[in-house]
Order: sequence, then structure tokens, then C-alpha cells
Amino acid sequence: MDGRDADGPRVAVVGAGLAGLVCAARLAEAGAAVTVVERREAVGGRVQTDECDGYLLDRGFQVLFPAYPAARTELDLDALDLEPFASGAVLARAETGERSVLADPLRDPRALPQSLLNREVTTSDKLRTLLLRRDVARRDEDETFARPDRSIREHLRDWGFSERFVEGFVAPFYGGITLDRSLSTSKRVFEYTFKTLSEGPATLPADGMGAVPRQLRDRAERAGATVATGERVRRVEPTGGGARVETAARTLDVDAAVVAADPPTARELSGVDAVPTEGPGSVTQFYTLPDHAAIDTRRRIVLNVEDAAPNALVPLSDVAPGYAPGDRQLLCATFLADDGVDPFEASDEALAEQTRTAFEAWYPERAAAGLERLDTVRVPFAQFAQPPGVHERLPAVDDPDGSVYLAGDYTEWSAIQGALRSGRRAAAAVLE
Ligand SMILES: Cc1cc2nc3c(=O)[nH]c(=O)nc-3n(C[C@H](O)[C@H](O)[C@H](O)COP(=O)(O)OP(=O)(O)OC[C@H]3O[C@@H](n4cnc5c(N)ncnc54)[C@H](O)[C@@H]3O)c2cc1C
Repeated sequence: MDGRDADGPRVAVVGAGLAGLVCAARLAEAGAAVTVVERREAVGGRVQTDECDGYLLDRGFQVLFPAYPAARTELDLDALDLEPFASGAVLARAETGERSVLADPLRDPRALPQSLLNREVTTSDKLRTLLLRRDVARRDEDETFARPDRSIREHLRDWGFSERFVEGFVAPFYGGITLDRSLSTSKRVFEYTFKTLSEGPATLPADGMGAVPRQLRDRAERAGATVATGERVRRVEPTGGGARVETAARTLDVDAAVVAADPPTARELSGVDAVPTEGPGSVTQFYTLPDHAAIDTRRRIVLNVEDAAPNALVPLSDVAPGYAPGDRQLLCATFLADDGVDPFEASDEALAEQTRTAFEAWYPERAAAGLERLDTVRVPFAQFAQPPGVHERLPAVDDPDGSVYLAGDYTEWSAIQGALRSGRRAAAAVLE
């Protein structure tokens, strides 16, 4: 069915990332005639998966937290067949060749003895973690994001966490999530992510992260929306009673337009200055190992306690076996800018060499020579920058003039939860 066959208002949605797709699905479900126009050939925006010789390569390592409230309302989580990471992480130190497990004792009691023996973390850090968890559990998303702000580093220092814990665990783990190992990001992002991870695991869909936008596209199309890909919108403007959306091939005169493009493009198309345009990028490199040389982390991420090159090593196919052919292990390493070193400036070979060196130090019993580089994914704009206090300066979905609306993580916070929730809010604003 073509979106134009519906009786309700005609709405054009610019961009088929998570926000645009949720917005389109909600509008179409409410009876609107929705046309989504996406610049790329595939939907998903910053969430995509490439299939390559039997491997699933996400466009940058990322995970889905099923405890995100918007993931529960907008996605059919059962159909995504989510594969969970084990809680906590393996902390790896190249200097001494030590590896130790730090797990969440409440979610993984079997790992308790190992975690208690972990010398990277003091008993008072473990106690503080439990107190912090009780503290963040009391607040929902709106409350968390409305509270006074400061950086993650300052916040943890005030809570009395040791420097060793902050540097050795929080910096690679939460720095990996915020793409900022210096921990200068808003503590709200840390608190809400920490709360979400206390409520459920990090997961990968069995068919790759790209299954998330595919599911949303199906949902929007089932409700009657039309999704056109490979068509770039070059202009959006309010008209007397509606809006006009122009691509090279056509002009859509509609009752309302929703700009759901990435933040830099959204600012350009909407003219709303409050849309943030700066943000960290992400560099992910994929490798395979033959089964006999595979490392066993018990489905945990391996964190580099010392530096960001690489920041982490992730055993993707141990978590989600469908990510690799049966006889191979698929791993990825993530690299962050740190101490003035920018992974975007390093060649693929240089990045692979850094991983090999770290791997040899962390897993001396394994042959790093078997580590075969598959691909390198560089995403120049992965999230918008979230320094303390940024969230109150973000635009609202109805900030543009007339019948033009915004949808995107940049109206909430930079995460899948922010994008999904923004799509829902934008749809509600249009329908109002
Ligand atoms: C490597 C990486 C790791 C991440 N890790 C996590 C994680 O672990 N957990 C988490 O919650 N979040 C993570 N994120 C963030 C999360 O993916 C994003 O916040 C979210 O996907 C943003 O969705 P969006 O719909 O707001 O924007 P986008 O995904 O940017 O979608 C915008 C869409 O608009 C299209 N578009 C742009 N311009 C035009 C135009 N002129 N015409 C037509 N279409 C246009 C784009 O092609 C794109 O499809 C990560 C992001 C990256 C890149």
C-alpha cells in the first residue's frame, strides 16, 4: 500500500534512522499518509549491519539495551532474538599480562568469587557501586536528565571512587559507551546507562544491529507508510498550511514534514541553531580467529585498563553465534581518541598492529598471528557531544517554524533510547 492512500494528514519524514522510522510507524498507525525519504540505499542511519562472507559486521560496535523503556514499547524484542553479553567485563593489563573478571554480583552471582578477588577494584569501590546503583534506581529518565549536571569524572570523584577504579574500569567501559575516555561527558548519560545496565544486559540481535531498523521499517510499511531510499532531501520549508520537501526528483507538498536526519544535516535543513553539530566519531576494526585459537571471555567484553589503543576487544560471535561462520570467531576492537592520539589518523595496518600487540600481552597463551583483519569501520559522527548541561540546550521536536518538526537523538540524548523516544514524541507533536 502507498502511504498516500491513507485518509489522514500527509506527512513526509526526512531520514530513516531509528527516530524517523519510529515517527513514521506511529504516524501511519494513527492513520496518516506517510512518505519516508532516506538518502542512503539502506535504512537505519547510524545503526546498520553489513553481511560479508558469512560475517555480520555492524557499522561500528554498538549494543542494544532491552531495558531501555522505548526499546520495550517500540520494538518487538522477542523477534530480535537478543543474545546477551555476560555482565561486567574482563580487565586486561598489558604491562603485567594480567586479566581479571569484574562482574555484577547481583546479576551474575557465579562470578562473585572472581570479582571479589579482583585486585583492580577495592572493597570500598565495590560497596560504593552498590550504593550508587541504589541511588540511580530511584529516578526515571526524565528525573535523571533534569538534575544538576557535572562530568562523569567529577561525579565519581565526589562519590569517593578510587582513581584506579575510575581509570581502570569506568574510563574504558563507560568511556566506550560515551565515546569519551576522558569522562568529561555529562554524568546524566552515565547514571542512566548505569541504571539501565543494572536492569538488564547489553545484547546483540541474532541477525546484527541492522535488524532493529529493519523491524521498524517493516512496522511502518505494514501500517501503510512508503519508504523511499536512495533519495536525498535538499530542502524543507514550511508553507501556508503545511510544508514542502524537495529532492532532486520531486517536490512533496504535505500537511507536515518531520526532519529526522543526522544532527548536522538536520540543522541545515531546519535552520534550528540549537541542533548540535559536533560529536565524537568511532573506529571499529573486525578480526577473525580460527576456532582452535579462539579466546574464551565467557561472553564478556575485554577492557584495556591502560589506554585506548584499542579501548576494548569484543568477542562478538561468542555472544551472537550468527555473527560468524561456525568454525571461526569474530572479534572487534574499538579505538577512541585519547591523550591527543586520534585513531582516525591511523592506517588500518597501524590499528591492527596495536590490537595484535595488546592481544599478545593479554593472551600470551594464544597466537596473535592467527588474528586475521577483516574490515575497518570509521564513523566520523557517531554521537553528538554531551558535555555537562547540554541537555537543557537541545531543541524540542516542535522548534522549527510552521508545520515542520524535528526527530532525532539530538532532541533527547545520544543513544538508541533517545532516538526511539524522539521519534515517538515527534509523531505525537504532528498528530496534535
Ligand atoms: C558506532 C556507534 C556506536 C553506538 N553505540 C551505541 C550503543 O551502544 N547504544 C546506544 O544506545 N546508542 C549507540 N549509538 C548511538 C545511536 O546509534 C544513535 O543515537 C541513533 O542511532 C541515532 O538515530 P537517529 O535516528 O537520531 O539518527 P541517524 O541514525 O543519524 O539517522 C538519520 C538518517 O537521516 C538520513 N539523512 C541524512 N540526511 C538526509 C537527507 N538530506 N535526505 C534524506 N535522508 C537523510 C541518514 O542517512 C540517516 O539514515 C552508537 C552510534 C554509533 C555510530
